[in-house]
Amino acid sequence: MRFAVAGGGVAGSYFANLIKDVHDVAVFERQRAENFRAICAWGTSKHEMRRLARRIGLNFDEYILHEGKEMIVKLPDGDEFSIKLKGLCTFNKKKFILDMHSRLKVYYGVDVKKVKMANFDLIVDATGFHRALLPRIARDYYIPTVEYLVKYNNPPIEDFYLMPLTHLGGYLWYFPLSKNLAHVGVGDYFNRHREALNEFIRRNPGEVIEVVGRPVRIAPPHLCAPIVSDGVVGLGESIGTVHPVIGEGIIPGMQCAELLAQTIDEGIEHYPLKVLKSFSVFHTIFQFIRKVHNSSFNYFRDFKLLLSPYLYMKLREDRFGMEIRLKDWLKIVELYRSSRVATKI
Ligand SMILES: Cc1cc2nc3c(=O)[nH]c(=O)nc-3n(C[C@H](O)[C@H](O)[C@H](O)COP(=O)(O)OP(=O)(O)OC[C@H]3O[C@@H](n4cnc5c(N)ncnc54)[C@H](O)[C@@H]3O)c2cc1C
Repeated sequence: MRFAVAGGGVAGSYFANLIKDVHDVAVFERQRAENFRAICAWGTSKHEMRRLARRIGLNFDEYILHEGKEMIVKLPDGDEFSIKLKGLCTFNKKKFILDMHSRLKVYYGVDVKKVKMANFDLIVDATGFHRALLPRIARDYYIPTVEYLVKYNNPPIEDFYLMPLTHLGGYLWYFPLSKNLAHVGVGDYFNRHREALNEFIRRNPGEVIEVVGRPVRIAPPHLCAPIVSDGVVGLGESIGTVHPVIGEGIIPGMQCAELLAQTIDEGIEHYPLKVLKSFSVFHTIFQFIRKVHNSSFNYFRDFKLLLSPYLYMKLREDRFGMEIRLKDWLKIVELYRSSRVATKI
């Protein structure tokens, strides 16, 4: 079959690598090769990434930049606790993607909205948040983010650091990339992200080398209909494969690519149902966070929903690369009670 993959991000490039030996595949990427950026904090878990990378002949360990030992979680009231890490790392996502590109036919600098893509049996929309080719989502939900690449002579923090914001609107992250470099960013449903990040940088000044930002879709696949439309099939963040509470989209996007590759022989009509089944937990987790965001969450009535993100991660500690404890989760969830006013970092 002839495939066109719109978007050479992590999901589209991985899918193309999975099928390239059996099918004819071309990738169309809007960014130019020389300026290619992988906007993200580059955090992931090495165990699952090793498995995924191995499938396409890459050695994930060669891309690891920093392996975490413990993550400090600082709550807005100043209280803090640490989470033992077991596989959470940062990796060179840009190099990983460009290495995947090097085995493919990639057409850079092409906006798929502006070109006619003819002569393909199937077009894959892997354009992430942009969802350039599939019809618009009726009720989309996303978190605005801003992230700095910061150079420190004396880094304020040596390992992973997270600060959840009040009302569970989002969190600030500090992900080390090397001894002196870190991705520091904030995503917040209530739009306090710029203020929160600038406050952190004011208190922990460093040289800001790069500023990026884009929304992260948290609407789960159940709300991202249609998943297949008019010869176009969605993949990755374009159809909501992002954990709605932690915003993790790399591994889910690659797992979605595995699902799409598996489904080609069975018939693409089976793909939407497989996606919904595979990511059904994101729907439950989304219901929890949505209730918190629109202030309809009730601790007792919605206790089962509250447990869903905890249980999902607790049963997959290696997959998420950290030890998951109920008492930590309950401390974070308590923030749902706090007011929506801006948090002091
Ligand atoms: C600031 C930030 C930090 C994050 N940190 C993490 C993290 O640490 N760990 C994690 O797991 N997830 C993280 N995420 C989420 C994760 O980055 C995404 O969910 C994941 O990259 C989605 O992969 P994708 O391939 O579906 O889409 P994308 O990575 O967005 O790739 C889409 C590609 O399509 C291209 N494109 C877009 N429009 C067009 C067009 N019209 N024509 C052609 N090409 C187009 C883009 O240039 C891009 O290369 C973060 C997100 C943000 C915004």
